[in-house]
Amino acid sequence: MGKKKPKKERKYGKGTIRCVRCGSCGAVIRRYNLYLCRQCFREVAEKLGFRKYE
Ligand SMILES: [Zn+2]
Repeated sequence: MGKKKPKKERKYGKGTIRCVRCGSCGAVIRRYNLYLCRQCFREVAEKLGFRKYE
C-alpha cells in the first residue's frame, strides 16, 4: 500500500507582510520602517507629519 501524501503546503506568512496597526495583509507599505497598509499609513503619516507620501 503506497499512501502518497502530496506536498501541498502553502507557506503562508513568510512572504506576507501584515500591517502592524490593523493586521490586514493587503498592500502594506514599507516606508520609513513602517509596516502599514495604505489606510493606516495615511493616518499615521499625517500624524507623524509625513505629507509628502505618494
Ligand atoms: Zn492597517
